Parts: sequence; C-alpha cells; structure tokens
Amino acid sequence: MHKRRFNEFSLTFTIRPQGPLLIKSGQESGADPTLLDMNFVRTHHGRLGDNTVYLPGSSLKGTLRSYAEKIARTLGDEQGDHFPPYSCNPLGTSDRRGRDDYYCGKFLDKPQHDQVAQHRLACPICRTFGHTSLAAHLRLSDAYPLDPIQPDNLTWFEQANQTEERDGVAIDRISGAVAVGPFNLEVVTKGAFQGTLTLHNFQLWQLGLLAIVLRDLGQGRVPIGFAKSRGLGRVTVTYERAEIGYPGRFRPQANGHDLQQSLLGVTAFLSADAARAYDYFPEAPVSLPVGWALSDDGSYGRVAVAGEGAAIDGLWRTAVPYWADFVASWQSVQHE
Ligand SMILES: [Zn+2]
Repeated sequence: MHKRRFNEFSLTFTIRPQGPLLIKSGQESGADPTLLDMNFVRTHHGRLGDNTVYLPGSSLKGTLRSYAEKIARTLGDEQGDHFPPYSCNPLGTSDRRGRDDYYCGKFLDKPQHDQVAQHRLACPICRTFGHTSLAAHLRLSDAYPLDPIQPDNLTWFEQANQTEERDGVAIDRISGAVAVGPFNLEVVTKGAFQGTLTLHNFQLWQLGLLAIVLRDLGQGRVPIGFAKSRGLGRVTVTYERAEIGYPGRFRPQANGHDLQQSLLGVTAFLSADAARAYDYFPEAPVSLPVGWALSDDGSYGRVAVAGEGAAIDGLWRTAVPYWADFVASWQSVQHE
C-alpha cells in the first residue's frame, strides 16, 4: 500500500452507555474472590488512575466492522453475487470466492499477490478495515472516561467507574433465552467515554459508508460489547470535532484544488494509472459543506480543515452519495 499519506480524516467522539454495558477483560475470577465471573476491561492510565475502565479501540473497531459488513451484505442480497463480494467473511477460512466462508485475507495471502493486488482484489470492507495482508485505513483509539482534570467532567468520570454487578441469569430471563449461568457480570451503566477515529488515504465512498455506520451507532441502534442479543451494550454517540488533513502541503492549493473549499479523496493525488492499478473508484472532488474552516494553514507542512456539529452532519450528507455510486458500480468493475 502507499507509504505516503495523502489525506486523513479524524473524528473525536463520545460514547454514553444507555444501560448495562460489558466489555469483557478476559480476566475470570479464578482464585481472586474480589473479582466477578466476568469483569469489565481496565487499564493503567497516567492521569485517570491505576485501574480505570475503558473501551478498547480494537473492540470498537470490531463493532464498526461487523456493522459495516452487515450493511454490505444487505446490498449483496439485493443485487446478487459479486466477486469479490461487498463484504467477505473475516472469520472465514476459504480462499474460494463465492463461498460463504470466503475471506480476502485467505485469498490474498499468497506470494503472487503484491501490495497493489492486496488492495485491488480486496472487498470494500477489507479496503477500509484491513485484512491479514493489508493494513487498515481505519483506526480507533481506546476510549477513556472523560478526563476529570476538567471540573465539568468529574461526574461523567466517576459514573463511568461506578460499575455495578448484574446477574447473568436474570439477563437471560428477560429474553427467555437458555440460561448458561448462574454467573455475575461487572457492568458500566453510566458515564462518558471519549476516543478518536482516524481514516487515512480515504476515498469519499469510505466516508459515506462510515457516515451510515456512525449514524446508526449514534442513534443507539448498534450495541457494543458482551451479550448484545440480550439487551446489553446500548449506547449513544456524539461527535465532538472532525478534521480533514492533508500532510505534506505547505499551502491550501494542491493539484488544481483549494483544500480550504474542496473535499479531496485519495484519487485526487494519484495518477490515473496508479488509481487504476489499485482499482480505486474514480471520484470527482466535491465542495466542502458549510461550517468547515481552515484549522492548519500549511505553515508547518500540513493543511487541514475542521468542523463541529452541523458541519459534520453536512459532511456525512455530502459523502453518502459517493457510497451509493460506488456500490452501483461495483458489479461492472473488473477486479482481476
Ligand atoms: Zn474482504
């Protein structure tokens, strides 16, 4: 994949549990009588203390990926089989396209597939979230309770760390599912966790896909963590600030575009030949929606624009049609 970074999107978000939430630590009670059967994941954090709860970025990324896969598979159902499909099965073990257990990583982990092929032959989900031979373009930081160094955050921080004990059997009784307990769970029920999502060398369709995933997540439709089917893990998400940066630029004018006014996907920086080799989808740059303003003018070798609130909403609305166009074209694209 490109060593150079052409563009990068970052989004600071806050997740608030709307009921019991459990991200398992993998630490069972064992011989330690102070631990429950299933405990919330904790870490040492310089300012937040020795043993704070947090939401690991790997877990959040897994949630986003499986929801994006779900969206992509819905499309596949409507429009028949695609090779590669809109989404492979990252838990699959087959390198045979067209099978339910086909996984891009399995197919592409072969010497004849160079770095360009790793992208060209990958499904849209792997192009965004990565596969075993292709680094992810999308990353998520760990999300920590709001830092109590700011007095306004103190309550949110304390609430996040006031975990409660829940009875695993009681949870089962609500849904009528077969009990696998009794066991007790350590859950977070309140508080607020902040983290950052980044997406680099992105195409505009990837922002569009992300827009759909994040909208549903923000509205509480995508549960996270353990026992989702039993009603745990309902959260809402708010978006604090977004930035679109172009590293290595000393002024806002680049490749015939004004980075202050336009949103540029990665193809704006590549030759037509390079874009074709990677099978990047052809995309025209688009005007930035209202509310975005220059946050880095290039003085230090990076140009960036930033937005909050309605500006982020405007960005999603701008990006979603690119996802729709990309999806419609997927069938006709030659991937080999
Ligand atoms: Zn894939």
